[in-house]
Amino acid sequence: MHKNHFGTLSLQAPDALLGLIRLFREDQRPYKIDLGVGVFRDDYGLTPVLRAVKAAERILVEQQDSKSYIGPAGDTEFVELTARLALGDELASSPSMVGLQTPGGNGALRLAFELLGQASKETVVWVGNPTWMNHLPLIAEAGLKSRFHRFYDPVTLTLDFDGMMADLAAAKPGDAILVHGCCHNPSGATFSISQWTELIALCQRNGLLPLIDFAYHGLGDGLDQDAAPVRMFASNLPEAIIAYSCDKNFGMYRDRVGTLLVKAATPDQANAVRSRLLGTARTMWSMPPDHGAATCRIVLATPELRSDWEAELGGMRDRINFLRQAVANALPKLSMIAEQRGLFSLLPVTAEAVRKLREECAIYMAPDGRINIAGLSKENLPHFVRSVSGFLK
Ligand code: PMP
Repeated sequence: MHKNHFGTLSLQAPDALLGLIRLFREDQRPYKIDLGVGVFRDDYGLTPVLRAVKAAERILVEQQDSKSYIGPAGDTEFVELTARLALGDELASSPSMVGLQTPGGNGALRLAFELLGQASKETVVWVGNPTWMNHLPLIAEAGLKSRFHRFYDPVTLTLDFDGMMADLAAAKPGDAILVHGCCHNPSGATFSISQWTELIALCQRNGLLPLIDFAYHGLGDGLDQDAAPVRMFASNLPEAIIAYSCDKNFGMYRDRVGTLLVKAATPDQANAVRSRLLGTARTMWSMPPDHGAATCRIVLATPELRSDWEAELGGMRDRINFLRQAVANALPKLSMIAEQRGLFSLLPVTAEAVRKLREECAIYMAPDGRINIAGLSKENLPHFVRSVSGFLK
């Protein structure tokens, strides 16, 4: 007798951004602007493969003589190079630091939450409101609870640091806090160094474990500048987790390139963490995809390619920050956009305005008003400014 397996399943709510991609593609208006999808775009609206990446891929194809399995830790030289890039040489080589390659920053986050759940199901993960839309589902899938703390003030368009610190006072020792290392998604809100210092002191005082989502390294103020707070967390606290992504700063998106770094309290605990991570990775993806990580490894290990990549990354960052300044200059109500960093900012608009901007002006953005700054260009900026100015709260 046939037993029906899937009749119990109902539809999951559709992903708002994927729906937007389809609507944008079908829109015939030549002046349409896509500010929805979260990838870097150049002046022509394209997301090209970086020069240094293309060159490294050619080297990889020439040199690779086997596609045999590598193992659940992935490409260990890639892991070491990204650990040094994120943390600097000293922290990266600590015997209490564990690293392994993951399928993107998303894989690193998922693995990190699984590790937290294995250590204690009681761990609450504190998350700023708003945050990247995949954070809460990732935490829930690992069987952990999350709680929001205040993060962003939609009136001043800045970090609500006092609200954040007040809410975090309720966190219990052993809880984790999910922090965006730089380039906050979706708000672009930035911390000053003294605010980072205060947050780290609070983690220290209250025994909170920082889990740093570091998905946009180098796209804010620079490689060293963006890494500074991450290094402060990792050097001042006994334990810390960093979910690193090369998908934005190397433009690797679909190749899924990431590293999970865990600083344990002692080398012995680091060994236990490593064995848990390897075992868990084995049950999720078994082994991470090789091509992208091997490519990034070649870029980072080859001085000419590395400096070319840094120049290209600088070009991406400059373009984003140039556009931020241009928006602020044209729309004084949005002057804070020039102070924010990364691909994203939140426009202070209603959901109704988001719909009207799409239907009447062919400007596409996420339902919460999140815009991808890199979707703007010198050419489309006047249409954007004209259209948006009437809708700002
Ligand atoms: N964290 C944040 C804040 C992100 O915006 C993204 C990608 N949109 C990720 C993590 C995941 O990055 P990846 O594509 O490397 O999985």
